[in-house]
Amino acid sequence: MPKGKVTFETEKCKGCLLCVEFCPQHILYQDKNAFNKAGYNIITVSEPEKCVGCAFCAMMCPDSVITVEVDK
Ligand code: SF4
Ligand code: SF4
Repeated sequence: MPKGKVTFETEKCKGCLLCVEFCPQHILYQDKNAFNKAGYNIITVSEPEKCVGCAFCAMMCPDSVITVEVDK
């Protein structure tokens, strides 16, 4: 199974949660204690080692916040 490394351009995030909803591994969550400059809670990865590099999160994000690098 490939592994992915997910990075976020957090300042562009608008907190729509589509990435959280569509991650098949359920490893993305909204950090209630961290905000970007626009005041939205940022998204973070709870268990990075479980990422399979599917990039569904990046595909779903309407604001191009997410980049997924895949380790083959
Ligand atoms: S690449 Fe896939 S498994 Fe990894 S965080 Fe995004 S949606 Fe989840
Ligand atoms: S889909 Fe994009 S804009 Fe929406 S919460 Fe996730 S990172 Fe933020």
